[in-house]
Amino acid sequence: MTYTMTAAPADRLSAKLPSSLKRLADIAFNYWWCWTPDMISLFQTISPEEWERCGHNPVALLETVSYERLAQLTCDPQYMTRLEGLADQFDRYMKADSTWSSRVAPQITAEKPIAYFCAEFGIHESLPIYSGGLGILAGDHLKSASDLGVPLIGVGLLYRQGYFHQRLNGSGWQEDYYTNNPFEQMPLELLKDEGGVQPLKFEIQVRHRTVKIQIWKAQVGRVSLYLLDSDREDNDPIDRWLTGHLYGGNQETRIAQEIVLGIGGVRALQTLGIEPSVHHLNEGHAAFCLLEVCRLEIQKTGKSFYDIEKSVRDRCVFTTHTPVPAGHDVFSADLMDSFFANYWDQLRLSREQFLALGARRLGDPWEPFGMTVLALRLCRSANGVSELHGKVSRKMWTVMYPEKSEDAVPIGYITNGVHAATWAAPLMQDLYNRYLGEDWTTQLVDPQTWAKVDQIPNEELWERHQILKERLIAHTRYKVRQSRQQRGEHGVSIEATNRLLDPTILTIGFARRFSPYKRGDLLLRDAERALRIFSNKERPVQIIFSGKAHPRDEEGKRIIQRIIEWCRNHGNVNDRVAFIEDYDMHTARKLVQGVDVWLNNPRRPLEASGTSGQKVCFNGGLNCSVLDGWWCEGYQEDANGKGTNGWAIGEDANTSDQALQDRIDSESLYQLLEEEIVPLYYDRDEKGIPHGWIAMMKGSLKTNCPAFSTHRMIADYVAQVYAPGTKAFEITLAKVPQQSSF
Ligand SMILES: *Cc1c(COP(=O)(O)O)cnc(C)c1O
Repeated sequence: MTYTMTAAPADRLSAKLPSSLKRLADIAFNYWWCWTPDMISLFQTISPEEWERCGHNPVALLETVSYERLAQLTCDPQYMTRLEGLADQFDRYMKADSTWSSRVAPQITAEKPIAYFCAEFGIHESLPIYSGGLGILAGDHLKSASDLGVPLIGVGLLYRQGYFHQRLNGSGWQEDYYTNNPFEQMPLELLKDEGGVQPLKFEIQVRHRTVKIQIWKAQVGRVSLYLLDSDREDNDPIDRWLTGHLYGGNQETRIAQEIVLGIGGVRALQTLGIEPSVHHLNEGHAAFCLLEVCRLEIQKTGKSFYDIEKSVRDRCVFTTHTPVPAGHDVFSADLMDSFFANYWDQLRLSREQFLALGARRLGDPWEPFGMTVLALRLCRSANGVSELHGKVSRKMWTVMYPEKSEDAVPIGYITNGVHAATWAAPLMQDLYNRYLGEDWTTQLVDPQTWAKVDQIPNEELWERHQILKERLIAHTRYKVRQSRQQRGEHGVSIEATNRLLDPTILTIGFARRFSPYKRGDLLLRDAERALRIFSNKERPVQIIFSGKAHPRDEEGKRIIQRIIEWCRNHGNVNDRVAFIEDYDMHTARKLVQGVDVWLNNPRRPLEASGTSGQKVCFNGGLNCSVLDGWWCEGYQEDANGKGTNGWAIGEDANTSDQALQDRIDSESLYQLLEEEIVPLYYDRDEKGIPHGWIAMMKGSLKTNCPAFSTHRMIADYVAQVYAPGTKAFEITLAKVPQQSSF
């Protein structure tokens, strides 16, 4: 079946705009704008207030802003010139036929693209279908694939209510609530069938019912992201909620949703007439996709499962993100029976043969069905997301490969990165344009590019950093004031937000999901010592927290509450500690762009990679982190064991005694702050410039930026996973083994 593009929403929007502003419509429907600073500012100029009110959604902005205002803009020659220039830039970007990918990996073609499956995508705050690091990584993956011209499409779910929103009550306890995503006002296109009127749809079986699924498309530069939606009137009311919430509900909801993503995802591609050369499963959630690729192959060839298995494996690759066994999705045999009893026949397998595909040990019928196990069995390549995580994964999965030594377990690694243009502040990008060259975004992975930061005068780098810190503080005050008003706090408390935080003080940021392993309150373990650090008269410290605990994670919620209580019990540091509620990509950008130090103190080795610290690097901020995930590869020190591009917290005591390890790490963190970080920050020349600190900022820019972008990461995926054997970047080593049989 094919689909038509008649009366696409961009055309409908364009029809409402003055003729000379029509280009704003198609750009509003392509998230390219969100990593093009001048384009962001062009939308914002239309109406800064509306822009905030619309949650930075340009489609909603253009729908709501008055025609008078638009007409006014058409008479502003400067605005019109800017728009023309950007529309040209957009056209050149979209139409370029020579790209990095077309040069180094011409065998990957748009006719047979890479299909990238993920349960969440963090493209921008105006498309809230993400929860944390996994989703942001997926969003950055699409953006870099687009920039580098890799023929890739995304496949995910369009959640009616996305992930939950967070509010803290008067006692610091997290309350969760959901809001509807107004798809019709978002930069999304509902694909239509041949008639051009009805939504294009396909059917899948879930819980013995037929569910009709429709497909939305979000455009991310040159990459299309297809999002599946079961919220149709002709579905059973329960099935309409299959795509209701991200990571909500129980095991049954979860398996049903993963069937929609995996099996539904493959059917969606079939419906669209897309035949991928590679299915990339980003985390195990989408692994049922493998079963459906097998089913279609069996249907097409009439062969048995065991005869087509290899040809399926040749087309499927897997990335694992979880270093603990409990983090991997498993489903009981009962649950598998109730959802797949009609399915294994179509694979021409018996129940036992079918369940064995997800059992860690072949022939163990009592094992639950593991999504990672299924993926490892039916994918030709598997990788973790940092060097350490690769190692941890090989160890964890030796159980599946009894004949192999741990080192020979076929799981490699590609370290995660971030999309530079998304996370670097426009003010910094402007500096890079001037000192590193206008082409710095295309020369990102070359250390020579970043060596040029030495030419940036210290005063200039510091001045920009300080402006970004002031903006972060303004954002924090605004958000905290809003929260206090919502809680009905009295005037004194609301007024006090005007004194919250101070741009001249050393500012630490800690923001991420509040999973217990991330130890969000480690810094407050010794309440008195922390107090002395924060309230030091000459050299004070301040910190901004943000992040959600999963609705069923009581321990995570308690950690947030302990932070709030600690502040409440120590009135004199009230202005030095802030918690921004309802963490999202907007707050994330402000934080990573404005902090001096980014703190990350997970229990090692539970942070598979972590990416928020990489975002900080692209803004000149410094990492202070446990040597876990990507930081093992990023951190560098001199001959005396002092960090030259950031700091390393604690040491691995190689103990299972959590309390002991927590004590060691918090002691080390206090010491680093007291003896190294604070003194270096406050060591100023007569003009107030901290040259030693800035040397470290430059050290971080020079060493971390070339290594931890998604451009480098995509190059690695192309060379080692998508098209092994290509000469992508010479720097890439074969870190991901290829498997032809299990
Ligand atoms: C980058 C990012 C994350 C990931 O943070 P980690 O510290 O790597 O876990 C989570 N949430 C948001 C909104 C982000 O932007």
